[in-house]
Amino acid sequence: MPGLQEAARRYVERNPESKRLHDERARVMPGGNTRSVLHVEPFPLTIVRAEGARIYDADGHEYLDFLGEFTAGLYGHSHPVILEAIREALANGIVLGAPNRYEASLAEAVCARFPSIDLLRFCNSGTEANVMAISLARAVTGRSKIVVFDNGYHGGVLYFRHGGSPLNYPVPFVIAAYNDVASADLVDEDTAAVLVEPLQGSGGVIPGDPAFLQALRDATQERGALLIFDEVMTSRLAWGGLQEVLGITPDLTTLGKYIGGGLASGAFGGRRDLMERFDPARPDALPHAGTFNNAVLTMAAGAAGLTRVLTRAEIERLNALGDRLRARLPDDAHATGYGSMVGLHVEDEERAALVHLGMLEHGYSYARRGFVALSLPLTQEDVDGFADALAAQLS
Ligand code: PMP
Repeated sequence: MPGLQEAARRYVERNPESKRLHDERARVMPGGNTRSVLHVEPFPLTIVRAEGARIYDADGHEYLDFLGEFTAGLYGHSHPVILEAIREALANGIVLGAPNRYEASLAEAVCARFPSIDLLRFCNSGTEANVMAISLARAVTGRSKIVVFDNGYHGGVLYFRHGGSPLNYPVPFVIAAYNDVASADLVDEDTAAVLVEPLQGSGGVIPGDPAFLQALRDATQERGALLIFDEVMTSRLAWGGLQEVLGITPDLTTLGKYIGGGLASGAFGGRRDLMERFDPARPDALPHAGTFNNAVLTMAAGAAGLTRVLTRAEIERLNALGDRLRARLPDDAHATGYGSMVGLHVEDEERAALVHLGMLEHGYSYARRGFVALSLPLTQEDVDGFADALAAQLS
């Protein structure tokens, strides 16, 4: 595609400092990368500064941030409430080696919101949350199999896109079709749990069909397996997550991304009788370790975000912006999603790459694969500008 070669040439020419920094990283990290999703050909932009909804690259270009750190950047880059919470916590020490005064606030806020979560435990990432939920399900049921879904993504070692990954966590996974009610038939007497995203995020921002998710709830309940909702991304879409919107209560829920206010975080929680197994005072207590599980800055930032920023009204405002964006995008963008999470499906990978490079040139950043997550500081004007720019790229 000649247009693509020309756009790539301009990209290289416009970004010498990002190129230099990429080459510097490549001396010590494979492919100059420590997080594969951030790699794009010929090299990704290095971002050096961010404020509100704007990010700035190493060559001085400014972008409106429509990636929103794959949903973790929900609060934007400099929310005053989050920054104040981090500064206050920072002033009193950050590695205390003990329970601190922030973790209960964050835990209470989470339990109050999500219908399925009676008790929870924190960890450091969404991947870890899912690994712990799977291991808990296998331990309490005494069963081995975990049903997951084609195109699903639950973390670096729980990757079911593009046929899976050789690095996957070695448990017997049964990979079923997403949004197919018949998949529920795969739940049998050796199934410990079904792990499902109520909307597939990394897999293209594809909403789950309520009848499919209900079939999973019914089958797991009937056959003694657990239902785990991975709401690492989707919990931001409603006060009580997509489980509240769907009216389906899983046994366990996993969280991450924005839940720590934008700092590294994860959590898993659910039914009291299941989660109580982690009570260290019990003779049959299950162990759950993690040096940074209650990281002071994360707990403080997460609690401030949930209790003081992410109100029902703010969630609704942001979801309405996402609805507006989907409605204004040209048909060629084949937009999918729900509320503030949007998937763009430009046909033909080369065309999608060309559109992505064009959008960057016009100051709009999102993931090349078409992933968009809105953040609180974005305005209606920003969203309309994005839609117009994308329409121009596609015309
Ligand atoms: N589950 C889902 C649905 C995700 O989107 C992600 C991250 N993209 C994860 C789990 C893993 O989270 P983390 O990157 O924090 O390990």
